[in-house]
Amino acid sequence: MGQGRLCNSCRMQPSPHATLVRGACPHDCPDTCALHYSVEQGRVVRVHGDPDHPPTHGALCTKVSRYTERTYHDDRVLVPLKRVGPKGSGRFAPVTWEQALGDIARRLSEIAARNPEAIVPYSYAGTMGLVQGEGMAARFFHRLGASLLDRTICSSAGGEALAATYGAKVGMHLADFASSKLILIWGSNSITSNLHFWTFAQAAKRQGAKLVCIDPRRTETADKCHQHIAIQPGTDGALALGLMHELIANDRLDRDYIARHVQGFEALREKALAWPPERVAKVCGIEAQVVRDLARDYADTQPAAIRLNYGMQRVHGGGNAVRLIALLPCLVGAWRQRGGGLLLSSSGWFREFRDDAALTRPDLLAGRRPRTLNMATIGDDLLREASPTFGPRIEALVVYNSNPVAIAPDSAKVAAGFARDDLFTVVLEHFLTDTADHADYVLPATTQLEHRDVHFSYGHTYVVANESAIAPLGQAKPNTQIFRELARRMGFTEACFDDTDEQLAGQVLRGVDGAALRQQGWFKLPLPEQPFVDGAFPTADGKAQVHATGLGVPDYVPPYESAESAPELSARYPLAMISPPARHFLNSSFVNVPSLRHIEREPLLEMHPDDAAPRGIASGTTVRVFNDRGSYLCKAEVSTRARPGVVNGLGVWWRKFGLEGTNVNQLTSQRLTDIGRAPTFYDCLVEVAAMGPATR
Ligand code: SF4
Repeated sequence: MGQGRLCNSCRMQPSPHATLVRGACPHDCPDTCALHYSVEQGRVVRVHGDPDHPPTHGALCTKVSRYTERTYHDDRVLVPLKRVGPKGSGRFAPVTWEQALGDIARRLSEIAARNPEAIVPYSYAGTMGLVQGEGMAARFFHRLGASLLDRTICSSAGGEALAATYGAKVGMHLADFASSKLILIWGSNSITSNLHFWTFAQAAKRQGAKLVCIDPRRTETADKCHQHIAIQPGTDGALALGLMHELIANDRLDRDYIARHVQGFEALREKALAWPPERVAKVCGIEAQVVRDLARDYADTQPAAIRLNYGMQRVHGGGNAVRLIALLPCLVGAWRQRGGGLLLSSSGWFREFRDDAALTRPDLLAGRRPRTLNMATIGDDLLREASPTFGPRIEALVVYNSNPVAIAPDSAKVAAGFARDDLFTVVLEHFLTDTADHADYVLPATTQLEHRDVHFSYGHTYVVANESAIAPLGQAKPNTQIFRELARRMGFTEACFDDTDEQLAGQVLRGVDGAALRQQGWFKLPLPEQPFVDGAFPTADGKAQVHATGLGVPDYVPPYESAESAPELSARYPLAMISPPARHFLNSSFVNVPSLRHIEREPLLEMHPDDAAPRGIASGTTVRVFNDRGSYLCKAEVSTRARPGVVNGLGVWWRKFGLEGTNVNQLTSQRLTDIGRAPTFYDCLVEVAAMGPATR
């Protein structure tokens, strides 16, 4: 884009000095917005949404519209830092890149000479960029022979369940929600975490569609839907079975669609018939009539769509619940019409257009098969001794694009592990996060404004490019460059470590018109308009799978921690806790951006008046939330946003901003989901006690 041109959505007076650069939002959000950066005199003065990119529509969430505040934050780490205080103290001294990388390479080489699997990479979606994510980093760790990381922290239960049902993580096109007549927004606070879907849901609503929100919490999204069904956390699978029961019992099935496009329906039928509405009502904590009415509406109001999101799968039975919900559209033939079907993730549509092996180069393992550690159990794993089953004790961690001390479950153990004096920790970061505070070296990484990248999406079907708008601030370097330079110092001579970011982007994209991508900033995948109108799911037989390989027939799997499955635990800790993100934070990102933190004020626990009153708790009371794993101090917000028996611990605050240096993950568990080996953040019983009088 040229000088002096501002995008159509910008209402500000165009500056003759502004240059527009095209970008992509790097954050872990399904919307993957196309961005415009307004640059004046080498500084980005504004970040706004591309008005021409159909999913973005020129609009951004509050968080990313403040991206400049984050990039130019006074607390940015802009030089390499070496620890000078005790582990976790956050006390560092500046060093040169030469000193930092030389020492890191020496330390990693020493450990690798004993056993490279003692070195563990830890990363997730701090950037969703393909280049700055697992591009050069994966090559580096493959060449080293380091432990592999199972990246399960967010979505693997639902993702694997969806793929088991439909063959890949595929679903409705985002824009088609505008044509729906009924939308079930299931386990998603869309206004907070899927804003651009909400735009299409609003369009449908204006055309008369009914919106139903299914969520334990009365979210901002629930407020704006026609109906809110507040089920007990972890009982979504039971509700899905109850809906199936009603569809079957009242002959509201699309028998033709089922016969032609569903494998194993009879077994599912048998499961569902064991779930009359009264049983569902008891498990889910709702009225039986709600189940009956919802099933009737779902069958009779076509096209009917489900926007499922990942919140509901963070429980023991999350995978089975997703499999059950994913089958609902087949039972009523919702896929036949535009505006009918389901969307959990669109990332599977990109499979044909990406070459992961070219990017990450698993061939550099050269026949070695390192162990794989699950990022969800890093707390236990950091504290484990060497053993024949575990392998070597973890001696070094290299963390990039993640903040595990804040976001991993059971964080007392995580923090204890990171505090080990014999652990060598390197963190690539923008800020001194809870994790960076525990590092031996903090290496300054560039933000999205300062590097090149390309992005796929899990909420729409466009590739989005990110150009670098400004030179790196201070001495910051892109992740790719840091791993390139480390590779050179470790003596890795393979030519792939010389690839530029431009080359990495070219290597990962397959069948994407690169020129169109850079010209327009985004590229729409050439996909069928209504892909499943006549079945043809990307499974071996083209049918939706009830009997998924190795998983059997889906069924309700109760939470680990509930009155039903753990009565003794429930007697001591009678409240179920979920920990959805605070509206102005994105996981643990943006927590330190002053204007956003000011809006969120302080760590809060939402609690229903019926639970608060007997405990002497009012809004503003300091409360201790506790269970056998730990305890966490925060302020109570007495509100009907929480349903009786459930408390909402809004996250994910950095621990150091907490009232006593902890956050909500002090309470969450390292137990894993039924499918996908994912954490069970929302499967967590607690008790709450007042610690003092209300202070506001
Ligand atoms: S966080 Fe989501 S809604 Fe906000 S700008 Fe990024 S992609 Fe768009």
